[in-house]
Amino acid sequence: MYIYNSLTRKMGVFSTIIPKKVTIYVCGITPYDTTHLGHAFTYISFDALIRFLKLRGYEVIYSQNITDINDRDGDILERARIQNISWSDLATFWTEKFLRDMQDLNWTAPTHYLKASESIEIMVSLIQRLLERGIAYSHNNSVYLDITKKKGYGKLSRLTEAQMLKMAKNFEEDVNNPNKRNPLDITLWRATEPHQQIHIPSFESPFGKGRPGWHIECSAMSIGSLGKQIDIHGGGKDLVFPHHEAEIIQSEGSTEKIPFAKYWIHTGQVFYEGEKVSKSKGNLVMVSRLLEKYSANAVRFLLLSHHYRENWEYREEELAMAEKRLRGLVGKLRATGKTKFVDIMNQDLDTPKALELMLHTKSKTIYDALGFLDPLE
Ligand SMILES: [Zn+2]
Repeated sequence: MYIYNSLTRKMGVFSTIIPKKVTIYVCGITPYDTTHLGHAFTYISFDALIRFLKLRGYEVIYSQNITDINDRDGDILERARIQNISWSDLATFWTEKFLRDMQDLNWTAPTHYLKASESIEIMVSLIQRLLERGIAYSHNNSVYLDITKKKGYGKLSRLTEAQMLKMAKNFEEDVNNPNKRNPLDITLWRATEPHQQIHIPSFESPFGKGRPGWHIECSAMSIGSLGKQIDIHGGGKDLVFPHHEAEIIQSEGSTEKIPFAKYWIHTGQVFYEGEKVSKSKGNLVMVSRLLEKYSANAVRFLLLSHHYRENWEYREEELAMAEKRLRGLVGKLRATGKTKFVDIMNQDLDTPKALELMLHTKSKTIYDALGFLDPLE
């Protein structure tokens, strides 16, 4: 199978560390305001990949996380404060909603579905390792990773320092924090400040009370559930910098296993009315709203009709058309050979082409392989 590796920026022949076994980690949601079409595109694209790998006889061990805590003030904590509920109740509510939406879309559930708040121990041990190796430093009970101490920061995004700085500011990366030696240094542990109230999540650690940085969470949950080196690391394209860049330097810095992930696979972004679908833009297209009007199969069809690396714009006409095309298959599906399907998917998971083949041949074999639900009668 040929797959595009964002790290090498080349199409590569897919091979695994252990034959016939694939370890895959996909960055999960920060549970508030889910599930919009951008989330669904990422997770259904990976669902198609996982189904295909299983079809090819691989055992797939798949981890995904929930960022129910992080070092930021601006997402969950801000929302919880406005709604006057606890951060954990808010996170539980939106996680359950996300899982319902994804189950409605017939996703393949991860083998390990990990909450950041329940994985503190491994985060602490990685941070300790980074401190011991002199890559990280602590200041006022917070811990930071010194990006100048480890070669290769920027190898995934290939950004210059000036570009990184600009993007880090947009990502609320706390670049003006006076405790940091370099504005791009990564927050590994954020100390609980004395004035902070009880509604801020706070955990005991050898560095003092605090909470982990967002980036170290994924390094820790990946290493903790899948080992020091994994086959595939995935996520949306918007996570390349700083999140995935940070994950690489933290993981490789603490385990000394290089590369941390053999393949980096990134999904494209979904736009609506000319803007990227995002919470801050307020143009969210929610999956649950679409499912009130259209079938889960139609939504899946819409998502798979865009190649996973494509940036695309949501148009309702396309969804209506997907519904119509699927209705045209009612009562006509039949078992077929899968050779052609495998050939198509082997070319960087070409789901749009696979869908055309499914419609053309009315293949139940492809229909099932792409994860469509049965009630077609
Ligand atoms: Zn992540």
